[in-house]
Amino acid sequence: MISVFGSANMDLVAYVPSAPKLGETVTGRAFRTIPGGKGANQAVAAARAGSQVAFIGAVGDDAFGPELRGALFEAGIDTSRLRVEPGPSGIAHIVVEDSGGNSIVVVPGANGSVTGCSAEDIEMIARSRALLLQLELPLEGVVEAARAARTAGVPVILTPAPVVELPDELLDAVDLIVPNEHEAADITGVTDPDDALKALLDRVPEAVITLGSRGALYGSRAGARLLVPAVPVEAVDTTAAGDTFVGALATARSEGRAPADALRFASTAAALSVQREGASTSMPSRAEIDAALT
Ligand code: ATP
Repeated sequence: MISVFGSANMDLVAYVPSAPKLGETVTGRAFRTIPGGKGANQAVAAARAGSQVAFIGAVGDDAFGPELRGALFEAGIDTSRLRVEPGPSGIAHIVVEDSGGNSIVVVPGANGSVTGCSAEDIEMIARSRALLLQLELPLEGVVEAARAARTAGVPVILTPAPVVELPDELLDAVDLIVPNEHEAADITGVTDPDDALKALLDRVPEAVITLGSRGALYGSRAGARLLVPAVPVEAVDTTAAGDTFVGALATARSEGRAPADALRFASTAAALSVQREGASTSMPSRAEIDAALT
């Protein structure tokens, strides 16, 4: 079982010819509400890739709360550690222009209340084969979850997004960090992925820098280096490619696959997801990943 300690947001997506400037009103073409949040997206990706998954987090007592829980439940995810907090659920207000560009406002809502772990959360983490973390919850909560996993000997995989200053007390408990190349550059202060990888490995034992259509770069403190090319496909929507990659990578690692094999599994899952629209809607099943691999 994999635990995800993370955010659940309702994405409120307006599709417009061009985004309004301050003080301007524009008429949109369409509007959709889509369950999202990096935590929930990684949980769904891991479940589709074949893992049993438990989600630890919070939703509000508004109308979005049951919808967010329902989306996780439908994906087969254990939501027994998903708390209901008084007030609104987390939302991401997304304006997508016809050009494909977007602007996003995230309001954390209930996610902001997850400042630590309950005894039951810690017990769930301790029973897991891996803990997935991102940074859309309060940092103190993320640190506590990471340390609970470390104490129990459970491997911790961190997606450092959105980028914040990463304290040693967090990174000391992280086994694998998976930034994209922009996040890696922000964290390390160097833009060359090889140099960024070296800098990351000063702080954590293993790192993967995802490079979009150029693939992913893996390194370990033990000296391993791998550049895993992306699977060449016609991309229609790369939303949540990174979350799909991480969910699949965690699944493969928790099954005991070696790094090269696990990275190929993750790249294949992510390549399938970029050929379909949306976030959770685009994530491939285990059968699809296995079929694409053979
Ligand atoms: P997002 O923020 O959209 O979730 P990201 O920026 O976190 O994505 P990327 O580095 O863009 O992550 O992509 C993650 C992985 O997805 C890549 O390492 C690669 O394996 C796969 N991928 C991304 N874009 C493509 C593409 N155009 N074709 C094939 N594979 C892709």
